[in-house]
Amino acid sequence: MSFVFSPSPVVSVPVLGQAERFPVRRIYFVGRNYEEHGKEMGFTGREPPFFFLKPADALVVVNEGDTGHMPYPSLTKNFHHEIELVVAIGTGGRNIKAADAAKHIYGYAVGLDMTRRDLQNDMKKQGRPWCIGKAVDHSAPIGPITPIGKAGDVNNAELDLMVNGELRQKSNVAKLIWNVAETIEHLSAAWELHAGDLIYSGTPEGVAAVVAGDTLVGRVAGLGSLTVKVNPAL
Ligand code: MN
Repeated sequence: MSFVFSPSPVVSVPVLGQAERFPVRRIYFVGRNYEEHGKEMGFTGREPPFFFLKPADALVVVNEGDTGHMPYPSLTKNFHHEIELVVAIGTGGRNIKAADAAKHIYGYAVGLDMTRRDLQNDMKKQGRPWCIGKAVDHSAPIGPITPIGKAGDVNNAELDLMVNGELRQKSNVAKLIWNVAETIEHLSAAWELHAGDLIYSGTPEGVAAVVAGDTLVGRVAGLGSLTVKVNPAL
């Protein structure tokens, strides 16, 4: 097959302990999935989970022990961090039941759902799509994937985010409103999941702005960590 120009490369994430990489298809995100974060966004109560996507090329892939780099994006004056547990799908399916969800999971990683909060809030007010606030270039840093068999008890793992050495977000995956298995059930009812899909599961409270020069270190207990520096705008 020939193309009129070279196709974009396959985006992939390293896997801890092996040379083969995880090729990425889609990146799904769960909105407001920790109660205390819902409150800080002005919402209370348990609502059905809702989803948005970013393109796979929004990933900033960071190897274990390395520092990744993301440029401060255009158009925003309020670029927020959201630390999240990321689920990597290894076996696809539709209408997956929560009880069967684990069979579809390849592994887990630490991710950041970086957000142009000012633009997202404008879009919310106007009832418009969140794309310009969420599906931002370089807005989805991710650390290496830990295969599920080596990941420990991820559903009860502490997660936290430090910015320049200062604690900004701290919670436990057990506080997810919709846990990983329930999220997969809901998501796979709306879209057929495929191997290579990533699911950012939502962020706990403490979201706040970063500026160029900041260094972010995200952790989920039992997984490889994620370090990213915010570079000046391109
Ligand atoms: Mn998020």
